[in-house]
Amino acid sequence: MLYLAYSLIWILRFLLGACLFSFWNVVAWRLPRGESPIRGRSCCSVCGKTLTAGELIPCVSFLLQRGRCRGCGAKLSPRYFWVEVLGGACSVGCALRFGGETPRAALVFTALSLLTVVSLMDWDTMEIWDRFDLALALCGLAAGWLFPEIGWGSRLIGVFAVSVPMLVVALIVPGGFGGGDIKLMAAAGLLLGWQRSLFAVFLALLAGGGYGIWLLAAHKAGRKDHFAFGPFLCVGIAAALFWGGDVVGWYAGLL
Ligand SMILES: [Zn+2]
Repeated sequence: MLYLAYSLIWILRFLLGACLFSFWNVVAWRLPRGESPIRGRSCCSVCGKTLTAGELIPCVSFLLQRGRCRGCGAKLSPRYFWVEVLGGACSVGCALRFGGETPRAALVFTALSLLTVVSLMDWDTMEIWDRFDLALALCGLAAGWLFPEIGWGSRLIGVFAVSVPMLVVALIVPGGFGGGDIKLMAAAGLLLGWQRSLFAVFLALLAGGGYGIWLLAAHKAGRKDHFAFGPFLCVGIAAALFWGGDVVGWYAGLL
């Protein structure tokens, strides 16, 4: 019985995370279109059918409907499903890593939510809105109290450690990095401290570089094309939030 209750807690954690990310998905879809993210109920973008409560259960509804609208049968974007799965995974991951429903877990989950909206919007529009960079910087300020193991000195250096070199590259290579990417890494520096920021940008360059090579090799893009780098930075920042401390400790042990 206890085992059952214990499993239920984890299922609830997953569903809560999936619900919240489902909302963030709507935000990332509506904001660039100038629509209000909170007004108006969720509806099918093809036939306009308002979704009933049963169709709003994260992950489960999508699978039961086999990814189609119940009204018109139009195929729904798999993005809905995967963003919800990501939200569930983030919620469970934060609870595992930072000890259940603690302020530390809530702060990291908030940061992951912001990174997800930034990634989705940057992927669609190649733009990162200042308000989300600012919100991430506020998370950085809160982290100064909740994660005192990273000192304020490291956080202040972190603001410039990655953003300034990126700015220099952007000035030398036009179209190298966008202003949004640079501001994102300044905010992330406050959140992570300088060492973990370096780890984040290292991962981002590795993942983004790999993706770029794949685009070229698969002839999906030419050498002059651009793709959004923000999502890769966000993946790097997210990884640094979870494992940055371990990696920095391991690296320091090598020196
Ligand atoms: Zn429909």
